[in-house]
Amino acid sequence: MAFDIEMIKAVYSKFPSRIETARKAVGRPLSLTEKILYSHLSEGAASKAYERGVSYVDFRPDRVAMQDATAQMALLQFMQAGRDQVAVPSTVHCDHLIQAEVGAIADLDKAKDKNREVYDFLSSVSNKYGIGFWKPGAGIIHQVVLENYAFPGGLMIGTDSHTPNAGGLGMIAIGVGGADACDVMAGLPWELKFPKLIGVRLTGKLSGWTSAKDVILKVAGILTVKGGTGAIVEYFGEGARSLSATGKGTICNMGAEIGATTSVFGYDEKSEAYLRGTERSEIADLANEIKEHLMGDPEVYAQPEKYFDQVIDINLSELEPHINGPFTPDLAWPLSKFAAAVRENGWPAKLEVGLIGSCTNSSYEDISRAASLAKQAVDKKLIAKSEYTITPGSELVRFTVDRDGFLDIFEQMGGVVLANACGPCIGQWARHGADKQEKNSIITSFNRNFAKRADGNPNTHAFVASPEIVTALAIAGDLTFNPMTDSLINEDGESVKLEGPSGLELPSLGFEVRDAGYQAPATEGSQIQVIVDPKSERLQLLAPFMPWEGIDLKGLKLLIKAKGKCTTDHISMAGPWLRFRGHLDNISNNMLIGAVNAFTDQTNKVKNQLTGEYGEVPAVQRQYKQHGIGSIVVGDENYGEGSSREHAAMEPRFLGVRAILVKSFARIHETNLKKQGMLALTFANPSDYDLIKEDDSIDIVGLDSFAPGKPLSMNFFHSDGSMDKIIVNHTYNEGQIEWFKAGSALNLSKEQV
Ligand code: SF4
Repeated sequence: MAFDIEMIKAVYSKFPSRIETARKAVGRPLSLTEKILYSHLSEGAASKAYERGVSYVDFRPDRVAMQDATAQMALLQFMQAGRDQVAVPSTVHCDHLIQAEVGAIADLDKAKDKNREVYDFLSSVSNKYGIGFWKPGAGIIHQVVLENYAFPGGLMIGTDSHTPNAGGLGMIAIGVGGADACDVMAGLPWELKFPKLIGVRLTGKLSGWTSAKDVILKVAGILTVKGGTGAIVEYFGEGARSLSATGKGTICNMGAEIGATTSVFGYDEKSEAYLRGTERSEIADLANEIKEHLMGDPEVYAQPEKYFDQVIDINLSELEPHINGPFTPDLAWPLSKFAAAVRENGWPAKLEVGLIGSCTNSSYEDISRAASLAKQAVDKKLIAKSEYTITPGSELVRFTVDRDGFLDIFEQMGGVVLANACGPCIGQWARHGADKQEKNSIITSFNRNFAKRADGNPNTHAFVASPEIVTALAIAGDLTFNPMTDSLINEDGESVKLEGPSGLELPSLGFEVRDAGYQAPATEGSQIQVIVDPKSERLQLLAPFMPWEGIDLKGLKLLIKAKGKCTTDHISMAGPWLRFRGHLDNISNNMLIGAVNAFTDQTNKVKNQLTGEYGEVPAVQRQYKQHGIGSIVVGDENYGEGSSREHAAMEPRFLGVRAILVKSFARIHETNLKKQGMLALTFANPSDYDLIKEDDSIDIVGLDSFAPGKPLSMNFFHSDGSMDKIIVNHTYNEGQIEWFKAGSALNLSKEQV
């Protein structure tokens, strides 16, 4: 599981000089975010200043982490890159596919059985290509990364939206799609729009019932779910230095809930203590040597309004515990106002289940503080009135808190320890009775609480809070209980009160684990076979896409003219389709089934030009493919917005769509289409959208002189014999045109290895 110390040394050796060069290029002091980004430019030392929120910049991340659901397609694609080994240290974490039902051991056994083919594939592909593999049961990606791989000043990407958790240890860590992970593992640069900067100045010190979670619950209330979009949130101030590294991780983790690109804290004594506590003193020693570079410049923090795009102030000494929800993580309630909100809104006051842990809140500190309340409950003869579950974030934490007696205390209180996995946090929760869809309340120490996320029941009111507040409310069984002011009646009929929680940031006996669940890759993988059952319905090896034929594309059919919003979810739906993420043919049966046909206003119903009949979009496209006929998809504004899901670009490419022509693209999707060798085109005149008819045949003209900045033209032949010729624009640069010609970016990179 060893971190790559040589890589870290290489990063740190360049840090001071690159920061100095960047300071000169930018002409002012730098925030920590800027220091890390400018020291990871693909071009090397900065030659110019980049404009925040405007410039697209190529970076060289130090690491890649992937969770098991998203790793499948990322690695299937990587296998096409023609490399023997990954270009940067990378890991796979088996955490998302484990369903919580009865308890850790039985649930884990069941998951291993059910997902065997996926685990076998991920294990063998990791082994072959030099990727660290964390087996099912080893823990949740972000907790494992924080414990093993995060390092101050580093830049990493991860195929999961809560990758920013590593910001707690001073790393810029950003959630991406599998295609980006594949590119970085293949040695290609990674592009990001240079982010805006939000500064959060923390003063004071936490005490009593308030914890680090309350900082981000408060920030979410201020910024809302969209307020961080396109920005990195940088925390600083004396209050920041008072927080544990894992508490900072919690704050950064949940920065995803405000839409932030990521969040980060500077390196300090708490970071050092955590590095040493997790057996990474070597990194702490190296970081100490350059520690002034692992923080923003003092001038930036002295006058944040001058250097950040937005500044938020929070005094930790005055911060109240918060409970956020239901149905959205930015509906923030200070604890003192929550009971009234529950009553006024008619939310079910009876608390059915309290769930602690997850990647967000399962540090030693979190568990020990929650356990201090559980112990009080046991000592004061209180039995938890709600069901109560504990999801440890890693085997390292689980083993240590078990050794220190905390799990035993939870069990005495009636708690159930679940597997070290995502479980209820991602809908992998076989909650009894959820199918009845009754209105009910749960509270978790997780990060997201959208409808149906935990148990699939749209009427479950999910609230988010710290593990301490979740535990206190689970003991009371009542959402309107305020542990800071209210008393409870115990088994003997006495009125008792819970004292504020207490705990330790790090275990006094140190962390301990018997089997962390790590599989190191083979040093030489050329003989290793990647295991994929040819009959599998969940996994399928990819074949390279065909290169461009070298001629204009003629006689294409219109597959669909989509109207209105067409997000990546409309193009490649999630839900039940997620199980086919590693099988391009099977998942392609969801292609565009959510898009609204502009001619009929219906979804998943388009005219099959070969038969004249209407059929489902994937089925019609498969018929065109069978007959060797290409097609085009026409779309409206901001086509492909939403997630960075590469399936939304791969599926049309796989089924034989040749071009996507829209009024405008969401940028990530546009890039994904280009990477897959697809033509991503926009109307030079958006009103030309109206010229396109349901049974058009189409030619794309000018590809023999395809060049940056030079429009192409398209001829639309209508069934009445008339024709419209239109001009279409594109944003391909020279390199991207080569991707198109080669059939995909991966085909090209294979040629270049
Ligand atoms: Fe995502 Fe929840 Fe798993 Fe964390 S525990 S990685 S938030 S699904």
